[in-house]
Amino acid sequence: MGLFEMTGTVLRNLMRGPATRRYPAVPARTGPLTRGHVTFDPATCRSCGLCSRRCPCEAIRLEKEAKVWEIDRMRCIACGDCVEGCPFGSLTMEREYFPPVVEHVVERHTITYVKPEKKPKPEEESTGA
Ligand code: SF4
Ligand code: SF4
Repeated sequence: MGLFEMTGTVLRNLMRGPATRRYPAVPARTGPLTRGHVTFDPATCRSCGLCSRRCPCEAIRLEKEAKVWEIDRMRCIACGDCVEGCPFGSLTMEREYFPPVVEHVVERHTITYVKPEKKPKPEEESTGA
């Protein structure tokens, strides 16, 4: 790069100002494909455990008996694998980034999904069995 070209680049950069933003004071730019953070719907989760098995960072923990689903926000890299793998659509990838944190954040949810009762078969109804 010649001196003339370099001077041009320096001047252009000085005129433009910083290329970075003062996040989080200035909101981050997001687009349709931005992977911000994972959200969980406790009403549809069937405790199958697929998400925690797929997660490459061991960010998800499931306590099936206690009906507890947890995500460690410091471990999650927002790869989206759990969202893709959940067969019940209980996980969503939101565009917005999770707010910056300085402490370990483990988000804990109580699973509220209730398995619907099976309808009795017609013969069982008539015989009272
Ligand atoms: S987005 Fe990726 S890293 Fe984060 S919890 Fe899901 S599978 Fe794990
Ligand atoms: S969030 Fe989805 S994949 Fe994870 S335990 Fe619940 S139903 Fe299974």
